[in-house]
Amino acid sequence: MATIDIPAVTLNDGTAFAELGLGTYKLTGEDGIAAIAAGIRSGYRVIDTAVNYGNEREVGEAVRRSGVDRDELVVTTKIPGRHHGYDEAIASGRESNATLGLGRIDLLLIHWPNPRVDKYVDTFKGMLALREEGLVRSVGVSNFTESMLRRLIDETGVTPAVNQVELHPYFPQGALRAFHAEYGIRTESWSPLARRSELLTEPLIRDLAAAYQVSPTQVVLRWHVQLGATPIPKSADPERQRENADVFGFALDDEHVEAISALERGRLWDGDPETHEEF
Ligand code: NAP
Repeated sequence: MATIDIPAVTLNDGTAFAELGLGTYKLTGEDGIAAIAAGIRSGYRVIDTAVNYGNEREVGEAVRRSGVDRDELVVTTKIPGRHHGYDEAIASGRESNATLGLGRIDLLLIHWPNPRVDKYVDTFKGMLALREEGLVRSVGVSNFTESMLRRLIDETGVTPAVNQVELHPYFPQGALRAFHAEYGIRTESWSPLARRSELLTEPLIRDLAAAYQVSPTQVVLRWHVQLGATPIPKSADPERQRENADVFGFALDDEHVEAISALERGRLWDGDPETHEEF
């Protein structure tokens, strides 16, 4: 089967990233390896994992089995809350690197800021030390607010390459995206399909799918692409993975992008970075 050509973008540190990537939460064991390897063979180049997904080993194995050149891939993992702190972040990155077994981590993120603990600046400094050493290529964050990003930039002099946040038509994150654009931070959308909630049966999404002759999922993922955010839909199924990646052959009119953004209603889960804690 032909490989889908997912366009590349360049991060603020000069490294390559992609307009769409693959989520892997819950893809574990042999089935998980097979699913992730199928995604890579379909054309996915940005692969998202985390210590807390318990599948870094599977992601590394899927990369090796895929037959795709390792240097074409951007394997992302994340430091959990229990590893916050300078030394802890260095140890966490080393352990992830060993578990992945791919020679280096392409993009390392802080999974959640956990502001009550107040160690995300030191965590980021530890990640910068790993980058200096060559063990990590790019550094970024996840679930950071504008004020947390400002503090990180002020106190380290380094602008994260990526901020991976909850983003879907019910929570389009307009203000945060504008801040990212100003600072050259790539927005990455987690739960881009709103975890297949009622989003995919919204009348607007169904009508647009019929009008553009694509699937509801493709309408939603194309909307992310046109916002300039990288969605990382997760699917265990090779056919749905291909459907999700195949959104570069059509474009939504601006008025339709705006209409989808008007579905906004706020966060869907208990994921306010000011209060949510993850360890
Ligand atoms: P999602 O990608 O929005 O939705 C995944 C769900 O949609 C799965 O149930 C999947 O089922 C289904 N699906 C996928 N493609 C479909 C299609 N074409 N048609 C119908 N159903 C489809 O949700 P997510 O997994 O929560 O988010 C994506 C990734 O973001 C995660 O895997 C993870 O890597 C990352 N994430 C990060 C954070 C963070 O804090 N940084 C938080 C949450 C998630 P099947 O597998 O059966 O296809």
